Amino acid sequence: MYVDSRPDPILVHAANPGPMTGAGNNTWLVEGAEPALIDAGVGAPEHLVALERALGGRPLVRVLVTHGHPDHATGVPAIRARWPDVEVCRWRAPDDDSRDSTVRGLADGEHIRAGDADLVAVHTPGHAPDHLCFWNMETRDLFGGDMLIAGTTVMIPAGHGGSLAAYLESLAHLAALAPRRVLPGHGPIIENPLDLIDEYVAHRRQREDQILECLASGATTVDAIVARVYPGLADAVRPAARLTVQAHLDKLRDEGRWP
Ligand SMILES: [Zn+2]
Repeated sequence: MYVDSRPDPILVHAANPGPMTGAGNNTWLVEGAEPALIDAGVGAPEHLVALERALGGRPLVRVLVTHGHPDHATGVPAIRARWPDVEVCRWRAPDDDSRDSTVRGLADGEHIRAGDADLVAVHTPGHAPDHLCFWNMETRDLFGGDMLIAGTTVMIPAGHGGSLAAYLESLAHLAALAPRRVLPGHGPIIENPLDLIDEYVAHRRQREDQILECLASGATTVDAIVARVYPGLADAVRPAARLTVQAHLDKLRDEGRWP
């Protein structure tokens, strides 16, 4: 049986509900000697107030940004304005030699302190090229950013840094870690992450089969495929469906299965 005497990470809502973020983003405060926040939100005043309250007057030492999408990263300046000494950490590509002194660039596998814990940065591209998860080897908690979201699938923005092939590889990487649970950037804590990863992979495989059938029967444009695979689709979600189909076509093309 697993026993942990340390406090759980504290969920601090980013106060940004909306069509793309659902109830709004989760940010996670890891308390301890070096209080650290996973993800920055958008700088909503209510977020900063809630964060201040959760910290109980202590300074925030570090922010670990899972990826550069606005709902996870644009809160950095507001957090810095409130805690000027905060260290901001995010992924830096090995070939990136820009030296932004205000940001600590993390490599895949790098260890970083959060609270009293040691977290490992795990590079998980696919949803975004700069996506990191943060892995606590001891508790087997994974801070998952946008890799897994309970009750829905994750958007792979083809043409905007998204790669379905990379995403599937990153899912396999996470499955190999066998996390006990995932604390995501959106939605509830995922208590059965391996089951969800299995569902995700099966879902993508099924979608790919459908798209291969479309291609074989002459529906070869994104719109023709969307019309067949998503009949009766509402206009509001059509752009998302187009991106998903494009992500599948990119993958098939990279694999040499579609010209
Ligand atoms: Zn995202």
